[in-house]
Amino acid sequence: MHFSQLLVHTLKDNPKDAEVLSHQLMTRASMIRKIAAGIYAYTPLGLRILRNFETIVRTEMNRVGAQEVLMPSMIPAALWQQSERWDKYGKELLRITDRHNNEFCYGPTHEEVVCELVNTYVKSYRQLPMHVYQIQTKFRDEIRPRFGLMRGREFIMKDAYSFHATWEDLDKTYSEMRDAYLRMFERCGLRAKVVQADSGAIGGDESAEFMVIAQTGEDEIVECPTCAYAANTEVTNTETCPKCAEKGQASTLQRVRGIEVGHIFKLGTTYSEKMNTTYLDESGQAKPMIMGCYGVGIGRTVAAAIEQLGSANAMCWPIALAPFKVSLILCKDEAPFREAADGLYNELKAANIEVLYDDRPESMGVKFKDTELIGIPLQVV
Ligand code: ATP
Ligand code: MG
Repeated sequence: MHFSQLLVHTLKDNPKDAEVLSHQLMTRASMIRKIAAGIYAYTPLGLRILRNFETIVRTEMNRVGAQEVLMPSMIPAALWQQSERWDKYGKELLRITDRHNNEFCYGPTHEEVVCELVNTYVKSYRQLPMHVYQIQTKFRDEIRPRFGLMRGREFIMKDAYSFHATWEDLDKTYSEMRDAYLRMFERCGLRAKVVQADSGAIGGDESAEFMVIAQTGEDEIVECPTCAYAANTEVTNTETCPKCAEKGQASTLQRVRGIEVGHIFKLGTTYSEKMNTTYLDESGQAKPMIMGCYGVGIGRTVAAAIEQLGSANAMCWPIALAPFKVSLILCKDEAPFREAADGLYNELKAANIEVLYDDRPESMGVKFKDTELIGIPLQVV
């Protein structure tokens, strides 16, 4: 891609309404454009990063046997009435009436729809476990959308749902998903921690949150410097690591801040009972399916990567997320320079290496500042 043709317009100064680094830098690099409070358009630079993370998420989901589906954003009220969430969910749920006076909501999460889908096609214990996921746009009418992609109203999430005949089988998938989540963040070059959490509004038995460590995180967590133990300070108030104490070792927990990028839950039969999501067991008896659900914020993870890895005037993308892998900078628009740069550009493209060719009639200072702001990992001048 030639920089001169890219849909981009970088800014020197931080926008006034941007309080955190990721929001500041993504806006300055024109990766995202606010259309309304908590609602953004993504330009090619921003979208490329989101898509790169989605590719990692897809690979890891497919690897654990989850199948990709796509559910609608608009959900008929009847499904949410059946789960009894239509009245309970509160003002975050955006309710819409169509021209025939039918009520809908713009889906903030998809337990009801996925129950409907799986219940239609899964009849017997022989078809279980069943595990599906989607990467889709959600809407939550957050009271205070802020920090750019970190807390939007419209945002992209990967949500997965698993269905089981036994609790042991749910435990197995839950632990595979936990590992898959840790791999996703590791492949992004991110330092992430898994912590036991409160399951909040979605309900159920056990849940874990995935935190990207960053000073700007909204959650305070404690982590052990010697083992993998970490916990939300809302859940624990101990100062020594309980895991290490079990082994007779003393280790003092350290306080750090984290950004919640993922959340996995054991839902049990809370939804399947209400939604009538049943299967026939070996003796032909109808039983509610045992469920798990697993979410990760696509935009929030990308923003968290900037919070963890970026600095005042520069994003710093690991190769896996980088919008372009190479920034090719033309330093003088004269024949021998142009020819050399054009030649390299064609070679990189032929080798399938994503390259941003800065061929603009700008000073070297401007070009370096922009490539650093955008955070392209390799520069060729
Ligand atoms: P929070 O506590 O931050 O409001 P949540 O616990 O309500 O989030 P979940 O229902 O667990 O969110 O959703 C799964 C994932 O979706 C979250 O871990 C986060 O990465 C992402 N997410 C949730 N709400 C938003 C939002 N408003 N903007 C961007 N991403 C979000
Ligand atoms: Mg959560």
